[in-house]
Amino acid sequence: MLRHDRGIVLRSYPFGEADRIVVLISPHNGKLRTVAKGVRKTKSRIGGRLESFMDVDLVLYEGRNLDIINQVSIRDTHAGMRTELDRVTAASTMAEGVDAVAQEDEPSVALFELLSSGLSTLDAGPAHPDLVTAFLLQLASVIGLAPSLDVCAGCGKATGLDRFSFGAGGVVCEACRPDGAVRLRPGLTAYLADLAASDLDMLPTTSPEFSGDGMGVIRRFMEFHLERRFSSLAVLGS
Ligand SMILES: [Zn+2]
Repeated sequence: MLRHDRGIVLRSYPFGEADRIVVLISPHNGKLRTVAKGVRKTKSRIGGRLESFMDVDLVLYEGRNLDIINQVSIRDTHAGMRTELDRVTAASTMAEGVDAVAQEDEPSVALFELLSSGLSTLDAGPAHPDLVTAFLLQLASVIGLAPSLDVCAGCGKATGLDRFSFGAGGVVCEACRPDGAVRLRPGLTAYLADLAASDLDMLPTTSPEFSGDGMGVIRRFMEFHLERRFSSLAVLGS
């Protein structure tokens, strides 16, 4: 049976003699694992439309385990971001984050929209230094994992929050502070809360000392909760 779907390509890898597995995020069906047949043997027209980050419409033949790609048409190549290595690296981190949290057969409009907006922001030109940090914060929020940034993750107190605990899930007060909570630079928490709440293409003005620390905290937070490490991570424009 044939069916239609849409997706942004997260990654692909060789499969068998001539095929590739292509993993996409669909707005309505979550993570799609599909097969592109024969793309490694010939100059296949389909293959060139399935590069990472491409937003495509698909006609899929429903297979027993994996759906087979029958037709592909491009909605957006996200060509703008491909000219600069640091923007491609940022896109890779975004795709990796979505890949880590997306489930198969599960509506995922918010995840899809977040990735789409992140890639479009990268297309538009030199990116905000903390775009990836903001993206990861918002990704955490989409999956219900948003770190507490304005009240203590332990008791809800709103003052004296100068440490961050990965396990407790956000900033903590002196009384609630577990072992291993890291001390944060003054003002960083408020800045991260700003990043979490802003549109990706309208992020607040940063100061350079926040960028490295902010990314460090959020990366470790995500890695702690997702139990995986990111292979690609960059602070933009540094
Ligand atoms: Zn507390």
